[in-house]
Amino acid sequence: MELKICHMYPDVLNLYGDRGNVLCMQRRLQWRGIDAAVTKLPIGSAGSLAGYDLVFIGGGQDFEQQVLLEDLHRGKDREIRAAVEDGIPFLTICGGYQMLGHYYETYDGKRCDFIGAVDLVTIGSKKRMIGNYKFRCGQESGGSLVVGFENHSGMTRLGSSVKPLGTVLAGYGNNGEDGTEGVRYQNVFGTYSHGPLLPKNPELCDHILLTALQRKYGRAELQPLDDAAEIAAHDEVAARI
Ligand code: GLN
Repeated sequence: MELKICHMYPDVLNLYGDRGNVLCMQRRLQWRGIDAAVTKLPIGSAGSLAGYDLVFIGGGQDFEQQVLLEDLHRGKDREIRAAVEDGIPFLTICGGYQMLGHYYETYDGKRCDFIGAVDLVTIGSKKRMIGNYKFRCGQESGGSLVVGFENHSGMTRLGSSVKPLGTVLAGYGNNGEDGTEGVRYQNVFGTYSHGPLLPKNPELCDHILLTALQRKYGRAELQPLDDAAEIAAHDEVAARI
């Protein structure tokens, strides 16, 4: 078995170790004898997403998001929308998560027209939402308790056709108001959690990997790994937040 992973915009969107998510997915597959090839798709590169089994997009500041707009609207917007509708799993973090929505209006009034692959909008607020936080994933996203770190000014509101990734237990999540965190639509997992997210939350990592394997191979299972150290770290942090 093999998963082909695409890391989009690794040169522009990579905050707080977001790249660690790609390494984590790759290692957790390899430890089970499953091949995992990672292809980087930097700004300016052409190419279809159709051959990939999983796409990762990290976070970035308002400036980087604005830098990417031209490149996005030169065809990657259509590629991403088609890949999402085809059920290719996406993991997208913060700025990369916002980018899948319709638009982002920054606090100082600049509007970034994004790609509308997922029904959500983001509006910058004066107050930055910063800190460690935790949330519980919905059942369709595995139901695990996730610990993470958020740092965003954007307040995201979900449209009625999409679900949140989870429910906030401590911290801000999508907007600090409605208790939602991230998004689930088709096989898109969008979240505000930097840090990186997956090494600290192996259960969610395996849920995403299994989603990709089942889409590709029909039936698939993941052998359990010895996650004693990861679980001990996770539980200690969860108790502190
Ligand atoms: N620029 C966005 C915001 O502040 C995203 C930030 C990020 O990716 N950490 O809302």
